[in-house]
Amino acid sequence: MDKSFLKSINILYVEDEDEVRELTSSFLSKFVNTMISACDGQEGLDIFKKHYNDENLENIDLIVTDINMPKMNGLEMLAEISNIDHLIPSIVTTAHNDSSFLKEAINQRVRGYVSKPLNMHNLIDSILVVSEPKYLRDRLEKLNKELELKVEKKTYELKSILDAQDNLILVINDDGSFEVNQTLLDFFGYKNIEEFSESNTCISKKFISKNNYFILKNDAVWFEEIMKLEDSKRVVLMNNIKGKEIIFRVNIKSFMFNTKHVVISFTDITDLKHYTYELQYKATHDNLTRLLNRHKLNDEIDKEIIRENRYVHGLSLLMLDIDNFKQINDTYGHDLGDVVLKDISKIIQDSIRSTDFASRWGGEEFMVLLPETLLNEASQIAELIRINIEKYKNKTLDKPTTVSIGVSQFKVNEDNVDTFVKGVDLAMYEAKQTGKNKVVKYEK
Ligand code: GH3
Ligand code: MG
Ligand code: MG
Repeated sequence: MDKSFLKSINILYVEDEDEVRELTSSFLSKFVNTMISACDGQEGLDIFKKHYNDENLENIDLIVTDINMPKMNGLEMLAEISNIDHLIPSIVTTAHNDSSFLKEAINQRVRGYVSKPLNMHNLIDSILVVSEPKYLRDRLEKLNKELELKVEKKTYELKSILDAQDNLILVINDDGSFEVNQTLLDFFGYKNIEEFSESNTCISKKFISKNNYFILKNDAVWFEEIMKLEDSKRVVLMNNIKGKEIIFRVNIKSFMFNTKHVVISFTDITDLKHYTYELQYKATHDNLTRLLNRHKLNDEIDKEIIRENRYVHGLSLLMLDIDNFKQINDTYGHDLGDVVLKDISKIIQDSIRSTDFASRWGGEEFMVLLPETLLNEASQIAELIRINIEKYKNKTLDKPTTVSIGVSQFKVNEDNVDTFVKGVDLAMYEAKQTGKNKVVKYEK
């Protein structure tokens, strides 16, 4: 054992012979932290108690005592001290060597024995041996403290990393306990994790049921359920503290370290979703009228033809062309022409059912696809549109705007996309040729 360890211990030395006490004290004080001496058992006991009870005084780690002393002998003193702290190590210095003394010394759990006259080196060796448990205890305590500090530092670092994330992070442990990062607390407006756990036992209760966003429909564990879905469907909707709906992609990973931990991370994809929606909208809609564009309508025609060939419920198409539209442009300008195009688009959209598809086919031409609709019903819808447009008044225009409309129904086993569109085009052409502002059915 390293002798420098002695520098950390405090010794109470009890000896009634002044000369021996002073000599030994001054020798030992060079090696130890504190050397306190007393001249009999009673004084030794009083000093020990004082140090034991006063927080401001250092604890005594070891007692070195003579046996034969006035007032109270060394073994009696150790017996009293042992009642206060039975673990404190002690060494006796004595010329005694009879067996009754040894027996009593053992009873008092005396750990060391140095015979008189004292040999200082023997005394130091004995102090070292007797102090070994404290030495080991102190080292262990120091190591533990260092370890605790390291763990604390690492935990703090990891927590800072988690708190710095934009993602909401939730860690669920095997025993059901959990951790969350600051971003998650801020999102819901909780002051701390306790407030969060009191208010809601499971985050899945915050998922909003809307569109195709994931919600838990049974008693199962929500993150196990969501894991069964394909990646693109692991999306949930939650309200933030201000009540704004935020869309999150959910990412889940399990880790094993003694027990299982599930790390769940919520990434805000609201902007991405809106951006994707915007792109999709732009790709499928006409910029001026906000109706479907020709490309999108062609897709819908393809899909509806497949359905019609299978179910044969009727599928019809309207082609509308504004009459004398060039005149409007020429007389009132292109900008007013645009206003008329927008207004007429709105009238068309408002005159049809939500299951129908209205599109801008070209300049001032529109196409409306009517699923589950036979020719006569389609003609009635066309007539309704025609009348609604005729009724439309723009304060700048001096006469009503009118449209010519062709109507045709898809014939299963005969038609394809081209003949279907061609038919409605012919009907519309006929409407133009025979006076405009009318509905003409395509009938072979
Ligand atoms: P008809 O009754 O035979 O259909 O005659 P029309 O004048 O309506 O037909 P025409 O094909 O001669 O003219 C169509 C006009 O529509 C010509 C073109 O400048 C105008 N046009 C096409 N697209 C737009 C647009 O986006 N805005 C405006 N203001 N005009 C457009
Ligand atoms: Mg035209
Ligand atoms: Mg026209």
